[in-house]
Amino acid sequence: MGYVCAKCGKKIKTLDKFARCAFCGNRILVKERPNVAKEVSTD
Ligand SMILES: [Zn+2]
Repeated sequence: MGYVCAKCGKKIKTLDKFARCAFCGNRILVKERPNVAKEVSTD
């Protein structure tokens, strides 16, 4: 599991001490979440 750029949504594979998006230069990265689909039933 890696990180995702909070701005452009690109996946960041490697994080060094200068963690930033290699595509847009954004420094805000969010943890990539497993794609879990939630089903909500209402009755
Ligand atoms: Zn980015």
